[in-house]
Amino acid sequence: MAEAETTRSDFIRDFIKEDLKTGKFEGRVHTRFPPEPNGYLHIGHAKSICLNFGLALEFGGQCNLRFDDTNPCKEDVEYVESIKEDVRWLGFDWEDRLYYASDFFEQLYEYAVKLIKREKAYVCDLPQEQMREYRGTLTEPGKDSPYRNRPVEENLDLFERMRAGEFADGARILRAKIDMAHPNLNMRDPVMYRILHSEHHRTGDKWCLYPMYDFTHGQCDSLEGVTHSICTMEFEDHRPLYDWYLENLEIYPPRQIEFARLNLTYTVLSKRKLIQLVEESYVKGWDDPRMPTICGFRRRGYTPESLREFCARIGVAKADSVVDLAMLEDCIRGDLNKHAPRVMTVLRPLRVVIENYPEDGVEELEAVNNPEDPDMGTRKVPFAKVLYIEQEDFREDPPPKFYRLSPGREVRLRYAYFIRCTDVVKDDETGEIVELRCTYDPETRGGDSPDGRKVKATLHWVSADHAVPAEVRLYDHLFTKENPGEAEEGADFKSNLNPESLQSLTAMVEPSVATAPPGTRFQFERQGYFCVDPDSSEGALVFNRTVTLRDSWAKIAKTLQ
Ligand code: ATP
Ligand code: MG
Repeated sequence: MAEAETTRSDFIRDFIKEDLKTGKFEGRVHTRFPPEPNGYLHIGHAKSICLNFGLALEFGGQCNLRFDDTNPCKEDVEYVESIKEDVRWLGFDWEDRLYYASDFFEQLYEYAVKLIKREKAYVCDLPQEQMREYRGTLTEPGKDSPYRNRPVEENLDLFERMRAGEFADGARILRAKIDMAHPNLNMRDPVMYRILHSEHHRTGDKWCLYPMYDFTHGQCDSLEGVTHSICTMEFEDHRPLYDWYLENLEIYPPRQIEFARLNLTYTVLSKRKLIQLVEESYVKGWDDPRMPTICGFRRRGYTPESLREFCARIGVAKADSVVDLAMLEDCIRGDLNKHAPRVMTVLRPLRVVIENYPEDGVEELEAVNNPEDPDMGTRKVPFAKVLYIEQEDFREDPPPKFYRLSPGREVRLRYAYFIRCTDVVKDDETGEIVELRCTYDPETRGGDSPDGRKVKATLHWVSADHAVPAEVRLYDHLFTKENPGEAEEGADFKSNLNPESLQSLTAMVEPSVATAPPGTRFQFERQGYFCVDPDSSEGALVFNRTVTLRDSWAKIAKTLQ
């Protein structure tokens, strides 16, 4: 469970404190997280989840999970289940307060009847196109619909027959009777109900008449006893309507508060766009580790703590902004640095033969599991005559400042010995380096030289006979542009996809990780943090790189200056 934090301050918390002081909601704080089950949750939703559930924890209140399921065409139980799993995984608990807007359909229908009887709603037969014309524009008032003054009885009769399925989709709608000249377009007799002969994932074919979001949300908040209905800025212009419905229905009114959505660099956060990536196979699924979905981050190796820390760091504001993806990466690095055990894995193996080491000799050398946490102890790593090191740790002609292995040079193998390169073996045909010949100094066991001799580099390594091959998936930004929504003329956001966002290697991993179950996280020394993928099995290991050790993008940006 997430920790409650009471020291934070922002405009939402200020509103709540003010309401607590004035006794507006009898001292209650009750929020809700209201996803529409039409896609998987993404990191933007995590911001809203942490905010809503976090406020409840902080103020000793409650938070509901409510499925805002008023659009049967795009919704599905698959999404419902994934959303529940993701909210729980983030560390939050709605206890017995799981709601569906569809559970309130009957009540909402009665509310609509109530407004008709009060001459606050009417059935309108204008075709969609004309509806639009009559609506007016930002600078011009709208015109009253010719059906606006239909008698109450006729409205009641038609509305009942709309429910009974007598009319085709789009033939008629129910509208609120507010003001066609209102400066806020949302108040110009907005639609309350539309006819949709479509199966609903929960109510089946019971309804062919579905309430609009605006006619649903506030009433559900009210029925559930919500005090603070927190939503994103695009609903600011809907707030007068939210209040109008509650006022005219004379039901308990919660307080709507808006905040700015999360935007992240190199990332799209719109379900409509994310669905395209999945359905058109640009990624392997909703939980592809390159996706900004909560399940994508989970598969990639992010912890719930790191996502919560990120949401706490970004805070809430009214103004739109874009958060640097590097900040999110920093949160997971900080967490894994403390908790992930270190192991040695060679991503691009280069064979090394220690010529003066005994032919069948094997030693178990002691390695530290986490220098940040002595309690995590040590483990044994096998050392033998044939090893692998990283290809990039050797240069035949080392440039200045390259301190790693090169012909004649001595380096340290971590936890093992000093070795010196004596010869380079190449493929006769391609000239490619296939093996290094080295000697070791038996006096340097453990990696220290008794004569105080210094080396400038320490390399990680594995024993060729003991190491286990593993598929390692390295990820880069899914998009090449900082703002992927901005595309060249005639193209869409998908033209900004990074063709090199996934790179798959066959690495050699230390034997100690061979049986780690999916979800286990490690630091591969010098290479980053990695997590066992669910595709993994014993004998066919698969790892995802969660994040590099440092912000390599920042480094590149600097060298380009
Ligand atoms: P999308 O634009 O991704 O389709 P949505 O707003 O349609 O998102 P909902 O399922 O309606 O998705 O969202 C549930 C809640 O999460 C809403 O309260 C919404 O305001 C909030 N939310 C969605 N996206 C973000 C975001 N990027 N940042 C913060 N909150 C968000
Ligand atoms: Mg929405």
